[in-house]
Amino acid sequence: MDDPEVPYLKTSAYEWTARAFEMLEAGTLIAAVLATDAIISTRVEGPCPRCTHHLSDRQTASAVSSTLPGERGVADADVMGDVVQIDVTCACGHPHAGAPEAAQSCGASFRIKFEVDETA
Ligand SMILES: [Zn+2]
Ligand SMILES: [Zn+2]
Repeated sequence: MDDPEVPYLKTSAYEWTARAFEMLEAGTLIAAVLATDAIISTRVEGPCPRCTHHLSDRQTASAVSSTLPGERGVADADVMGDVVQIDVTCACGHPHAGAPEAAQSCGASFRIKFEVDETA
């Protein structure tokens, strides 16, 4: 596979959200959401839209309030009726050139939109 390494770049350009959407449509990127009572769990799995390395992202959000102080990792979720939006940051585990030592990421963030199926 031709896999040119992309250098680390902290970016949340719309480009990556658009590409993630295309990959979701094509089925190469899998996004799943599970809603139980007041908790929404999301899972995103597949190639990163920017660096194409495999990433696996799990987030848990409160459906009641997504802005509880002190709860990290939930504030990014945006719950609007049956639609949940989360921001995923690449965590592919590959060291990219120029990345901060702890990053193990190409630095790209993108937004995934879920439709919550209440009947599930
Ligand atoms: Zn990567
Ligand atoms: Zn990446």
